[in-house]
Amino acid sequence: MLINYKVITVLNIPFDNTFARLPERFFVRMNPVPVAAPKMIKLNAALAQQLGLDLHELSSPDGLHMFAGNRVPQNSEPVAMAYAGHQFGSWVPQLGDGRAILLGEVIDQHGTRYDVQLKGSGRTPFSRSGDGRAWLGPVLREYIVSEAMAALGVPTTRALAAVSTGEIVRREELFPGAILTRVARSHIRIGTFQFFSASQDIDALRHLTNYVIKRYYPEAENAPIPCLAMLEEIVERQAKLVAQWQCIGFIHGVMNTDNMSVAGETIDFGPCAFMDHYHPETVFSYIDQMGRYAYQNQPSIALWNLAQLANTLLPLIADDTEIALEQAQVTINSYSECFEQAYLTGMRAKLGLTEVHDNDITLINDLLERMAENHADFTLTFRGLSELSISKARDNAQNNVVRNLFDKPAAFDQWMTTWRQRLIQESSGDSTRRAAMLSINPAVIPRNHQVEAVIQAAVSDNDFIPFEQLMLVLAKPYEDQSDYQQYTLPPQPEEVVRNTFCGT
Ligand code: AMP
Ligand code: MG
Repeated sequence: MLINYKVITVLNIPFDNTFARLPERFFVRMNPVPVAAPKMIKLNAALAQQLGLDLHELSSPDGLHMFAGNRVPQNSEPVAMAYAGHQFGSWVPQLGDGRAILLGEVIDQHGTRYDVQLKGSGRTPFSRSGDGRAWLGPVLREYIVSEAMAALGVPTTRALAAVSTGEIVRREELFPGAILTRVARSHIRIGTFQFFSASQDIDALRHLTNYVIKRYYPEAENAPIPCLAMLEEIVERQAKLVAQWQCIGFIHGVMNTDNMSVAGETIDFGPCAFMDHYHPETVFSYIDQMGRYAYQNQPSIALWNLAQLANTLLPLIADDTEIALEQAQVTINSYSECFEQAYLTGMRAKLGLTEVHDNDITLINDLLERMAENHADFTLTFRGLSELSISKARDNAQNNVVRNLFDKPAAFDQWMTTWRQRLIQESSGDSTRRAAMLSINPAVIPRNHQVEAVIQAAVSDNDFIPFEQLMLVLAKPYEDQSDYQQYTLPPQPEEVVRNTFCGT
C-alpha cells in the first residue's frame, strides 16, 4: 500500500532503508501527516553527533520540517510498521504504528545501525480509533526518561528531537500537540513476530527472523538452529535489561508484547515512572488497575512475553512440533537463571559487595523488606549507603542520613549491623567500595513529581526552562551536583503523583 508519497526536502541525511526492503506486508509506505506550525522544543546535539548527523542541517528550517513530518528527507523511504501484541494479557491481532513513521536507518561512528522514527506523526492505516497524534506531556516524559535511562547506562531508545506542532490534541482535555523523534536499535517487537505467526505466515516469519539475526545477532547465523540461537540472545538481553530496571527502581508500566523490543532496549515510555519509596507492589499506570505490571511482576512478565515469542518461532525451530517445543522450552527456561544472576550481581554491587556469599540474597531481601515497611526512598537509601564506612559508629552524620529515611530508624540499624559484618569479609576497603557504589547508585533519577512539574510548566505556561534544567541534572546521574540538591529529593506529600495517565 502506498499513501501520500512523498514530499521531499533537500536534507542530506544518509538514510538507509533495510526494513523497507522486507516484503510489503511488513509495513505501509506512507508519509507522516504534515502539521500546522511546528517549533523546535529540543534537539539532542550529543546524540546527533554520535549518529554522525549534521547539527547545522538538523537545526535548519528543513530539519524542523523533517522532525515535524512536514517534509521527508531525500534518502528516506518512510513506513508505518505492522505488528500485533498481547495488551494486558489479551490478544490483539492488529496493532502496528498507529501514530509513528519510521524514516529510515542511520549508521553511527561505531558502525551500529539505528532506526529513526517520528512518534505522533499522524494517522496511519494502523491507527484504529486513535488520532495518530501525541501531546506535549508524554513527548516530554519520553524525552526525559529515555535520556535519563541512557545516562544511567540502561539499554534504551533515545530521543533525538522534540517539536511542538502548533495543533491541539484532544485527550481528557485539550493539549498542545508534539512529535518525538526516537532513535532505536530496533522497532521490531515481540508483537512483530506475533503478527505473522497469527496468520501462520511462515515465509514472513522466516524473513523477519533472518533480518533480526543479520542486524542484531549475526553470531546466531552460524548456530545449528539460528532462530533458536536468536531466541537465546533475546532472552538473555531481556533478562539483563529487566534486572537493570529492578536495580534502579524503574517501572515500565505497559509491558505488553508490542512494547518489548527484540534488541533488548527499553522502549515505549508511556506511563512509566521510577519508584520513590520502595514497595514491590508499586504501580503508576492508571489503566493498570490489577497491578499486572507492578514493579515486582516485571521479571515474570518479561518471561511470559518471551514465551509468546518462542511460540511464534516453533515452526522455524523444527518440523516436529514436539521437538520444537522442547527446544524452545529449554531456552525459555534459561531466562530465570540469567535474570537471577544479573539481578544478584546488580544488587550485590549496589551494596558494595564484590565477593559472592551464599546468603547475600537474604541480606538484600532483608534490606528491601525493611525499606518497604518503613517507606524508605529507594534511590536515596542506596546512594546514602555508598557513603557509609565499615568502621564508623552508627551515630555519625552520614549514617543518620540513611537511617532517617526509615520510618523506624532502628529497622535500619539492625540491618546495618549485619551489612557491616558482611563488609568486613570483603577484601576491598572503604574508599574503593565508596567509589564503586557511587558509580552505580544514582543520586538523581527522573522523579515522577519533577517530570510532572516540567510538563505542567511547559503545557500551562509555555515555559521549557524547568525541562532544560531537569535534563541538565539527569545527564550526570552519578554525580553529586551540589547546586541541584532539590532534584535528589522525593516528593512532599502534596507533590506525590499517584497515577500516571496513559492518555498518551
Ligand atoms: P502504546 O500503548 O503506546 O504502546 O500503543 C498501543 C497501540 O496503539 C499501538 O499500535 C499504537 O500505535 C496505537 N496508538 C497509541 N496511541 C495512538 C494514537 N493517539 N493514535 C493512533 N494510534 C495510537
Ligand atoms: Mg507501544
